[in-house]
Amino acid sequence: MDNLQVCVDGKADLHMHTIYSDGALSPPELIAKAKDAGLQVVSITDHDSVSGLEEAFEAARNLQLEVVPGMELSAMMNGFEIHILGYFMDFRDKSLLDSLAGFREERLRRAERIVDKLNRMNIPLSMDAVMANVSGDSVGRPHIANALVSEGHAQNYHQAFSKYIGNGRPAFEKKISFSPEDTVKLISDAGGLSFLAHPGKSVSEDLLIQLIKTGLDGIEVIHPSHTPDLVRYYRGIVNEYCLLESGGSDFHGGQKGDDNIFGQFGIPIGAVDMMRHRLFSN
Ligand code: AMP
Ligand code: FE
Ligand code: FE
Ligand code: ZN
Repeated sequence: MDNLQVCVDGKADLHMHTIYSDGALSPPELIAKAKDAGLQVVSITDHDSVSGLEEAFEAARNLQLEVVPGMELSAMMNGFEIHILGYFMDFRDKSLLDSLAGFREERLRRAERIVDKLNRMNIPLSMDAVMANVSGDSVGRPHIANALVSEGHAQNYHQAFSKYIGNGRPAFEKKISFSPEDTVKLISDAGGLSFLAHPGKSVSEDLLIQLIKTGLDGIEVIHPSHTPDLVRYYRGIVNEYCLLESGGSDFHGGQKGDDNIFGQFGIPIGAVDMMRHRLFSN
């Protein structure tokens, strides 16, 4: 029994990022890469942005590759940040787009606060240098990390986090985010399903139950950061509370150096069918 492997490589990868947030590839580049890797369903889940989705649909047309509309939002729960994935929402919904624009505005303000902190630490990074690394509309710490490297203030991407901007490091700043309740509601009001992203070891069972009570539809069970034991644990929770299972690679590309995981993490197509079933039977 012990040497039985947990299956993590289904043909549907529902978690990846493009240049519209902190990924290195454009939507067409990512779609072509997914097709080459033999994936059959993908979701592009940029942070606080759905701006890459039209391009992704266009690129996937005629490729026999299904694109599920997606996004990744941040929420604050008991003082720490969790991520919530939204799938199948109407990404042209006006109030959704307004909320996302507000979150991105807050990301910009937070990047300015991080740059201020760095400047006070005698690291002369400018917002212009940060923005030179942003191709889309959602600024994040990965862009600041890239700028710290290109301006010679950090040796590499990972050192930029461990020395300066990672959680709890001297130039770290929180984002101001919605509560999980409001985040789940934002997604369901736009007709989508919400999933707790990569809970890892950081979410206690009590918090998990609180989240499930907010109307969460499922959990991202498959993620590169999840050990086989965590996969079994979250699969158990999903079954116990009649939730849905999601999963993906959380691929970013570029300086993150995660090319080796592309196509290696996903869920079976049947799990996506179950999502659709839940959506259309409600
Ligand atoms: P943000 O949403 O701006 O807080 O940026 C979060 C992103 O930064 C995550 O999705 C990761 O891609 C990246 N990140 C956070 N912490 C680290 C770390 N310690 N090392 C490398 N990347 C990190
Ligand atoms: Fe990211
Ligand atoms: Fe995330
Ligand atoms: Zn992600």
